[in-house]
Amino acid sequence: MPQMPRTPAGRGYLAIPGPSVMPEAVLSAMHRPAPNIYAGELPEMMPGIVADLKRVARTDGHVAIYIANGHGVWEAALSNVIAPGDTVLVPATGHFGHGWGGMARALGAEAEVIDFGKSSAMDVGRVAEALAADTARRIKAVLAVHVDTSSSALSDISALRAAMDEVGHPALLMADCIASLGCDVFEMDAWGVDVMVAGCQKGLMVPPGMGFVFFNDKAAARRAEMPRVSNYWDWTPRAQPDDFWQYWNGTAPTHHVYGLRAALDMIHGEGIEAVWARHERLARAIWAACDAWSTEGALRMNMAEPKHRSTAVTALRLDPPRATELREWTETHLGLTLGIGLGMAERTDPSWHGYFRLGHMGHVNGHMIMGLLGGIEAGMAALKIPYGAGALAAAAGIIGAVSP
Ligand SMILES: *Cc1c(COP(=O)(O)O)cnc(C)c1O
Repeated sequence: MPQMPRTPAGRGYLAIPGPSVMPEAVLSAMHRPAPNIYAGELPEMMPGIVADLKRVARTDGHVAIYIANGHGVWEAALSNVIAPGDTVLVPATGHFGHGWGGMARALGAEAEVIDFGKSSAMDVGRVAEALAADTARRIKAVLAVHVDTSSSALSDISALRAAMDEVGHPALLMADCIASLGCDVFEMDAWGVDVMVAGCQKGLMVPPGMGFVFFNDKAAARRAEMPRVSNYWDWTPRAQPDDFWQYWNGTAPTHHVYGLRAALDMIHGEGIEAVWARHERLARAIWAACDAWSTEGALRMNMAEPKHRSTAVTALRLDPPRATELREWTETHLGLTLGIGLGMAERTDPSWHGYFRLGHMGHVNGHMIMGLLGGIEAGMAALKIPYGAGALAAAAGIIGAVSP
């Protein structure tokens, strides 16, 4: 099945920041009859899957798996360590930071938000000031989004940990790596992250439907002090099951388990460090193209500084309504679907049509990125959107310099 309904031939490319492109190996691993959930291969696969998930997250801690999307594991993580009346601190670098904070509020917590806006990096000094001011130690956790997929801002989680340690605040450090896991460099244990949430449908290349909460012993101790955690969200039996059903608190997402197994084989076959390096090389090619385009016309990357950009997603702007016109053109004429802008403007606001995003997470390689960039340039030329010259040559130079 082609991904794009409107192109009659060739492969489509869904270049949105999740769900990402699914590898054939993942799809074919899922194409099978219903497996037995009580004995045999499926239950036996689990210890290996758990170990390989932890290798992606770079942790020796624990992992609980949920049949859920990213919003589900936001709630799962909070439910285990944040009680009604607790306070969380949210240094927000885009739409998703506000979203996680809003979910904490809906669960009865106070969410204190430090808003860094829609195109700025997190200033960990300001987070440290807020923690230092909390002499009553009301703040139980800092909710940090590693890559905010709306702005494409990359936060320095290890610097955030250092800032928390400097003021000696005992709050848990919780990281949202839903967009970044398996794309941007992330080291859960080395960076001192206590709780990390991820989904399967972005860097992990599996269809949406599984989410992960990684946690360390400090977070497990906090869980033990909670007045009440629902059976379903409780991470303890999921992370230490006596029986296969306890991984899921019910029936397993049978086919997702096979898909995830195939995806983890691909990631560890390539090597997680090589996966990170590939994402970085491809992102640098995209940035070089954008730099060239932006020497004329209105196209701009949302994050000005390379060190504050994710290597999994790029948020861009054009004069409205050019971004929407470009997205529609590339989808209709090329089978190339670009991402909508998210959280930058209300959908009813005309400026909404000036934002778009590129997903370059997971199952992507050099020819796909050259196709993505060539498709954007073809669209801008066809639509007479002004742009600077030399973008594709700049990208080719980066992709070609490293590939054998
Ligand atoms: C995609 C995403 C989410 C939400 O995940 P869903 O699966 O859509 O619920 C949350 N945070 C970040 C950083 C994301 O990229």
